Amino acid sequence: MIPGLDLAGQGVLIAGAPWAARRAVASYMAAGAKVAELYTSSEFSYRTGIDPTIRLVITIDDGASSWAKLRAAARHSGILQLSEPAAAREGKIILVGGGPGSADLLTVRGTNALAMADVVFHDRLGPGQDLAELAPGAQLVDVGKAPGHHKVPQEQIQEGMIKAARTGATVVRLKGGDPYVFGRGSEERESALAAGVNVEVIPGISSAISVPGVSGIPVTARGVSKSFTVVSGHDPFTETELSHLAGMGGTVVVLMGVATLQQTAAGLLRHGLAATTPAAVIERGFTDSQRSTRATLGTLAEAVLRAGCTNPAVIIIGGVAALGEVPENVAALLPAAVR
Ligand code: SAH
Repeated sequence: MIPGLDLAGQGVLIAGAPWAARRAVASYMAAGAKVAELYTSSEFSYRTGIDPTIRLVITIDDGASSWAKLRAAARHSGILQLSEPAAAREGKIILVGGGPGSADLLTVRGTNALAMADVVFHDRLGPGQDLAELAPGAQLVDVGKAPGHHKVPQEQIQEGMIKAARTGATVVRLKGGDPYVFGRGSEERESALAAGVNVEVIPGISSAISVPGVSGIPVTARGVSKSFTVVSGHDPFTETELSHLAGMGGTVVVLMGVATLQQTAAGLLRHGLAATTPAAVIERGFTDSQRSTRATLGTLAEAVLRAGCTNPAVIIIGGVAALGEVPENVAALLPAAVR
């Protein structure tokens, strides 16, 4: 579809076998167009021509019909024509990494997969708000989980996706960040394969690197840190884990770690990290309410309590957490002339 083209109430003729044309039909209907369908080339004749109410002709390459005559007639009548890709013939599941939250951080491949999706199972994280535009006319299934509220159990999500794919649908599972970083992507892939359903995985920009980055914190920096370890703080760390994390000497990035932060900070101190080690918490990266709380390992727990930090947030511990801090009032630093 041409973005921004107002199709409300306009006649659109979509030519293609029903299986191939179904996504185009759903998208143009979602845009408010009055859709007429043509299933094979033989249904079109010059004598009857194109209905005068038609403003746009869409042809789908379904491998069976040549739409040359229809296109020629549209050209002759001065009707705008476009071709759209054919929908998939066989059902499949595509795990799409949605990136850290804004639609323009979704990959081109992920965007294309959404445009071809019949059904989208989506989360709370990721570019959820823009789905009506990214997957016009698709069935949207919200399986989002607020922390502590497991709205749809994992097995049920997997079963639902497999069931939909078996009806021939292209099913997109849109996940926050990258599907394979604490996203249960591997379980979803394995269950689809076990059920004999085709599955594809499209990577996404993980919050583990991008959220520190957007607040000016590089996960590695020459001379400061030459490694980063991404850990889930969902469950408290064991003593062994804490000792390894403290011993690495690199950056520690904790996801899902706000609730266990006190224990993490105390544990890392106990295992030898200096209290002066820089630390930061970045909440809601890439949203209007993104917030950075900077501290040191010794003051982090208190700073987070005082600021009332909540999930989703990325915690960064290590020398890099002191980098890139933007002064509160940048304007004050500018020469008066440009203020
Ligand atoms: N697969 C995701 C991570 C899923 S775990 C990824 O690769 O990013 C969910 C955790 O990711 C959240 O609890 C939080 O720690 C982090 N997270 C995801 N998006 C975030 C964002 N926009 N801002 C801050 N943290 C985010």
